[in-house]
Amino acid sequence: MREQKEEEGITIDLFESVYHGQAPWDIGRPQKEYIQLEQTGEIVGSVLDVGCGTGENALYLAEQGHEVWGIDFAPTAIQKAQEKAAQRHLTATFRVLNVLELHTLGRRFDTVIDSGLFHSLSDEKRHPFVDNLAAVMDHGGTYFMLCFSELTPIPDFSKLLDRMPDFSKVKLEDYTGRRVTQAEIKESFQDGWRINYIRQATVEASIEPGGFHAWLSSISKE
Ligand code: SAH
Repeated sequence: MREQKEEEGITIDLFESVYHGQAPWDIGRPQKEYIQLEQTGEIVGSVLDVGCGTGENALYLAEQGHEVWGIDFAPTAIQKAQEKAAQRHLTATFRVLNVLELHTLGRRFDTVIDSGLFHSLSDEKRHPFVDNLAAVMDHGGTYFMLCFSELTPIPDFSKLLDRMPDFSKVKLEDYTGRRVTQAEIKESFQDGWRINYIRQATVEASIEPGGFHAWLSSISKE
């Protein structure tokens, strides 16, 4: 248990150190897949953004009139999100929280969005995360997940190290996102969930002008 806590602490520190600079996934605007989901009316009601980072997707949805909460375990990301909300005169609730403790929020949302969180979780954390997700969703509510697919090449670490010297000490693979297959998504959401679709999509990133290959999944709680 103690080992697990220590490992968790290191992971938080790493994301923190990236957020002290410019995170490569932080493009300063919402991901286009989420703009499209909003414009086609797929995102309904209250929204929780899990692993919200500095809040671009959450703030976009707040601007569109949704009640929005965003959580992330990196305090600097949450602080940046809160500052952006104030600057833009938008109302959204941002909290420092681990996604394995979502149940402590004590409330449910109509929609949950995930841009790059699921692919940063280790295998052991996937099932506990999905259980936590179920605790904050209404029946019939939908979870939208954008994650790297196996078609995305492993990044050029030397390029990343250039931008983030702090990373030289650590296992970069853990922080650049895992590669996820459709079979892994289906395995994680077997019981109590309905997979509406898993589509080919793109994750935009500042380090890759064309973006990365991704899966966009729509998964409803039964
Ligand atoms: N959604 C944001 C950030 C994506 S990067 C965006 O699109 O820009 C993944 C985010 O998940 C990081 O901000 C990281 O701090 C957060 N994260 C990773 N594991 C987490 C966990 N166990 N609990 C809460 N947040 C986590």
